[in-house]
Amino acid sequence: MKITIIPLGTISPYPKKNMNCPGFLIKFQDYKILLDCGNGIVRFLHLPNDLNNLHIFLTHFHNDHIGDIGALQYASFCHHNLGQLDQKIQIYMPDHDFRFNRAAILANEESFADYHSIHNMQTYQIGDFMISFEDNHSHTIESYMIKLQSQKFKLVYTSDIGTNNIEGIIKFAQNSDLLICESSFLKTHNSNSTTHMTASRAAKIAELAHAKQLLLTHFWPEENKEAYLKEAQNVFPNTEIAIEGKKLTYSK
Ligand SMILES: [Zn+2]
Repeated sequence: MKITIIPLGTISPYPKKNMNCPGFLIKFQDYKILLDCGNGIVRFLHLPNDLNNLHIFLTHFHNDHIGDIGALQYASFCHHNLGQLDQKIQIYMPDHDFRFNRAAILANEESFADYHSIHNMQTYQIGDFMISFEDNHSHTIESYMIKLQSQKFKLVYTSDIGTNNIEGIIKFAQNSDLLICESSFLKTHNSNSTTHMTASRAAKIAELAHAKQLLLTHFWPEENKEAYLKEAQNVFPNTEIAIEGKKLTYSK
């Protein structure tokens, strides 16, 4: 199975130049999985083709992770009406309500979509991948880590995580072939945030989880990405930084 991972958005909390808020497109078999749908990512999708067999997972309801969901819903509506989309897009999101964002997504009548729940006990089978979730218990609101697991490949996307429940995060990411982990800060930022990671903390998680490869994401828009890479590689050498459009491919 060929697996292609395309970073569509790698910065937060706002898009800048050719960089968008969080989003990763994963293509395999005939399927597409979109992990988060941040501001600006729709610019980098190929529509209407990418709407076919598209499964969108929203990890939590912070605006930087859902900013383009309305645009995608409306795109599905328009392309369906034009006869270019027969299958509904599939949107998965946590059950809880937060600042009405969930309700607004569900109430959007100009969309061609089905809706599904994300919670700890839920799993979905999409092609060869089993998809599972775990509330990371360390961000400012309920936020889910996502695991894609086939017989030969395990990908874990942390979304936004903080410094609590590190043991649980490491356990969830255990033995992943690719760990996509957020790194909002650098050590030099001297941030005392407990609800986001630094690059070196992300790298430590990768090391302790025995991940094969670390892909850092969720960078501060005004910061140089290379600084994150340097900080992380001091702890975990097999680290890459996510760059919009720079694909990672695997044959498994
Ligand atoms: Zn967040």
